[in-house]
Amino acid sequence: MNQVVVIGGGWSGIAAAVTARNAGAEVTLLEKTDMLLGLGNVGGIMRNNGRYTAAEENIALGADEIFALTDRLSRHVNVDFPGHAHASLYDVIKMEPAVRRMLEEKGVRIMTIARAIDVVLDSTGKTLKALSLADGRTVEGDVFVETTGSTGPMGNCLAYGNGCSMCVLRCPAFGPRVSLTQKAGLVDIIGRRKGGAFGAFSGSGKLAKESLSEEIQQQLNETGVAVIPLPAELIAPEKLDLKVCQQYALEEFAENVILLDTGHAKIMTPFFPLEKLRRIPGFEDARYIDPYAGGKGNSIRYLSVAERDNSMHVRGLENMLCGGEKSGLFVGHTEAISTGSLAGHNAVRWLKGLQPLELPDQLAIGDLISYANESLKTEDGLYTRYTFAGAEFFRRMKERGLYTTDSQEIRQRVKRAGLENIYREKILH
Ligand SMILES: Cc1cc2nc3c(=O)[nH]c(=O)nc-3n(C[C@H](O)[C@H](O)[C@H](O)COP(=O)(O)OP(=O)(O)OC[C@H]3O[C@@H](n4cnc5c(N)ncnc54)[C@H](O)[C@@H]3O)c2cc1C
Repeated sequence: MNQVVVIGGGWSGIAAAVTARNAGAEVTLLEKTDMLLGLGNVGGIMRNNGRYTAAEENIALGADEIFALTDRLSRHVNVDFPGHAHASLYDVIKMEPAVRRMLEEKGVRIMTIARAIDVVLDSTGKTLKALSLADGRTVEGDVFVETTGSTGPMGNCLAYGNGCSMCVLRCPAFGPRVSLTQKAGLVDIIGRRKGGAFGAFSGSGKLAKESLSEEIQQQLNETGVAVIPLPAELIAPEKLDLKVCQQYALEEFAENVILLDTGHAKIMTPFFPLEKLRRIPGFEDARYIDPYAGGKGNSIRYLSVAERDNSMHVRGLENMLCGGEKSGLFVGHTEAISTGSLAGHNAVRWLKGLQPLELPDQLAIGDLISYANESLKTEDGLYTRYTFAGAEFFRRMKERGLYTTDSQEIRQRVKRAGLENIYREKILH
């Protein structure tokens, strides 16, 4: 009874599990690999540009626990790098176990190495009853939240990228991502990149910090950031078009190697051939640790977006919601947490028979959710990525007066909308 099943243990699934649990549901979180956090294991950048505003909105809405963790485990705060201000960089090595402990303490049932491969529908074909797992088990639920992301499976990285990049999701070992909405008979929306190709390359990698010169290591440890000019023959501006992360498609990212300290040295480029990388002073011994094929390619994303409404309900299914990259061409942890939190909360409202919550567009989160949805209906919208951190949507935030780092003002906005701590309200007792 009152069982919410979340499929996919990345940031959006984690956030959905937290808000659903806080609203009083029994929650099961399924993750195909042996680790939670998904792409959050290789990211780390929070609070840059408009993500600051969105983080504070989430906190005021009552989705504060995750941000308390990411703030506490930040190696650096208030970091500026080209095109980005006041970033926090969380430690990607410490984050996953900390998140897992937090969920366990809340009473979320976590199932890892639990890959959902199919849906069991009722006779109407519109309501999910259960999920079939790859190992033959069945998981029943009353309402489902799909947060399986959009990375892989290997076939997509082969067809639309440079092959399996051996990323943190480890499809060869744990099995491919499965789109449950597609299994339920719906058609997923597919993102495009410049030139019309499907999907987009993930925009960064990780180098072993110890493989870089002492000088670079010291700079990273002390300031969190190192901007190293590229020799002229290594500048490749065309690579900016490949990137998922349009917020980093700036000249500075083509003319320099930009490194950030997230425990490893995060290199802000989609892939950089190792031989060329080692020609840069200080990188003579450089080595990729994520993805393993980082010198050749990176993972392909954005081939699996569900059609949804602004309350995160999947169109065409009665009891399925979605969040994160599954719910739009969103880039980012904060974006995944924002959409996942709303989806988890609305899953419990659905159980109780309440009207779903939609966030108003006076809040950056509400505006992102509805704007991305509207834009997806246009051809151009399929080429855009939506993030608080830059590019089109951050410009829009500034134009609409939504961007601020004044936490008090943000709390007032949420209060004026009548939504302060809404995610903390217990709906089921
Ligand atoms: C290399 C890289 C660096 C990045 N750096 C940053 C950064 O610094 N800051 C930032 O804000 N954003 C960053 N991003 C983007 C950000 O990580 C993602 O947009 C966001 O974390 C996506 O979260 P998600 O929960 O939607 O999806 P995911 O993180 O992809 O999570 C989906 C989860 O579902 C699981 N899954 C899939 N299919 C199934 C199934 N059938 N059954 C069970 N489980 C399943 C997957 O294993 C995975 O754990 C980065 C992305 C990449 C690839």
